[in-house]
Amino acid sequence: MRGSDALSKLRYDDVPIAESVAVKELLEEVASKFSELDESLVRRKTLQVLAKLVKERRPDMLEVPRDGFCPVCGSPSPLGYLDSNGALWLMCPMCGATWRVHRVKCPYCSSEETWFKRDLFAPWIRVYGCDKCGHNWIVVDEKEESYPGIPREAYWLILKRYMGA
Ligand SMILES: [Zn+2]
Ligand SMILES: [Zn+2]
Repeated sequence: MRGSDALSKLRYDDVPIAESVAVKELLEEVASKFSELDESLVRRKTLQVLAKLVKERRPDMLEVPRDGFCPVCGSPSPLGYLDSNGALWLMCPMCGATWRVHRVKCPYCSSEETWFKRDLFAPWIRVYGCDKCGHNWIVVDEKEESYPGIPREAYWLILKRYMGA
């Protein structure tokens, strides 16, 4: 892919990667491969390809703790997990990227007045909340003793149960 060179030159920015000028050519190239699909599906598929490329070529851009908005496409995420090292990652509902966030700060307003409670029956599920902005998010604690080891894609089903989404 010609445009994928753009990724190696990309620097940290507040703008989602998908909106940076350097990546535009790459996105057009990817989108052209899905031209038989409808527009919203093309956007989603394109962003998914971009997220994969970023993970392969610029994992560093996903590893620096950020806020609750996807560094690839800008979507907010209410779902994440604590990995075996205790790092907190959010998962993008649009492009599938995962990126690191601060453990104590609210991913939406940076307040440190956050709380969490464990599910009574499944203590590996944490429900987080922020008293300042009122956001809630769900985090799967993969290092909790009772964590059953399910595929990460299935975490979305857990989120549905809590958020009624
Ligand atoms: Zn995304
Ligand atoms: Zn907040």
